[in-house]
Amino acid sequence: MKAVEIYCNFVRKNLDNPRFAKKLINLGIGAAEKYVSYFADRRFPPSHRYLNKICMKYMREPLFNPERSVWVNMFTPTEIFHSMGVFPLFIETYSSYMSGFFIEDALIDKAEAAGISNTLCSFHKAFIGAGEYGILQKPKMAITTSMICDGNLNTFRYLAKKYDIPFYIIDVPSKNSENTVEYVKNQLAEIIQMSEEVFSQKFDIDKLREIVKIENKTNEYRRKYLSCLSAKVPHSVMSFEMFMLFTSHVFMGRPETLKFYQKLFQDIKNAPERTKKGIFFIHLLPMWEPSFQQYFNLNEKYDILGCDLNYDFIGKIGTSDPLKGIAEKLITIPYNGDFEKIADHVTGIIDMVKPDGIIQFCHWGCKQSIGIANLYKKIFKEKDIPFLTVDGDIMDKRNNQKGQIKTRLEAFLEILESR
Ligand code: SF4
Repeated sequence: MKAVEIYCNFVRKNLDNPRFAKKLINLGIGAAEKYVSYFADRRFPPSHRYLNKICMKYMREPLFNPERSVWVNMFTPTEIFHSMGVFPLFIETYSSYMSGFFIEDALIDKAEAAGISNTLCSFHKAFIGAGEYGILQKPKMAITTSMICDGNLNTFRYLAKKYDIPFYIIDVPSKNSENTVEYVKNQLAEIIQMSEEVFSQKFDIDKLREIVKIENKTNEYRRKYLSCLSAKVPHSVMSFEMFMLFTSHVFMGRPETLKFYQKLFQDIKNAPERTKKGIFFIHLLPMWEPSFQQYFNLNEKYDILGCDLNYDFIGKIGTSDPLKGIAEKLITIPYNGDFEKIADHVTGIIDMVKPDGIIQFCHWGCKQSIGIANLYKKIFKEKDIPFLTVDGDIMDKRNNQKGQIKTRLEAFLEILESR
């Protein structure tokens, strides 16, 4: 679309004028939210149209209300913030949105010019680049966790210092015991105390309990949806699976998220029987990669069944002591530990969903993802499910070997067709 292209170029040209660039970015997010609300794409099921709309809202809230916002990573226990009416800015998805504005290359270059290693994950580099340009809105605080992603700690530490905001790392041990639950729970209590001071507001445990109840209800629908996927699947595109990272993590507990999963369950009940080859993705999906777009966005031969990261916690959180319940959730998330725990989780989903093939797109700079690719290979071989690993970059469009990716992907799809 010409107008979008002109707008994106205009943002890029104004990156050195951060006050104006911030306004332009907010304008774009606000306009996109309105656009997807009034001109929803009818090729997609109602749940997906709704998801598109609420994700725009979830991105707009912290950008329009920085004085009520907090930077978070994917695993930050945001239930606390939802209960206080504070808006989390999910930093990995902020970077993805900047990729949607086609300015991720400029942000990444800015971060590298400031001395950030080019081997850092490009989600982090883009966020740091936005900070270097000064186009990030200053939030009230920044909270991250020690889980899975080693890039998070330094990105948060660096930018919190640069923006001069309070910062907290939740240290989540991998062993589940009474002591470790108590240890995490005490850290959550410290975050609450910090939030009360920063936002000059009292925390209310009953409000948190309500959020957790909504989360538990949401997880009931997610389990029901998963149990249908072996037989049916709504039409999808890669970006929707990526959008779902908002609802499966940072925005769990919000009523809009519950409504989305209710709609999704309704859509899968109405969906046609599975006749195409169903592909399950490990970790993330390369939504900007042209060959993947060609074969997986509303393709007549292949269906996207989901990605494991969207189902890392679908259990129930205790409500009598919600802080203890959230601490238990953090500790038991399968990616918080060794590969055995991850493998159990992923094979459990695979057994339920029954994909025809599995793809892991090893994202540039993501050490945990690249590190476990070979271990997955062995597991899926034993299960006799074709498995493809491809190296590339989900964020930085310059960083993909398009020809090589196309060849490998098509060879893999031929294997699926021959079975
Ligand atoms: S892709 Fe990997 S390194 Fe990058 S944010 Fe996600 S977990 Fe962290």
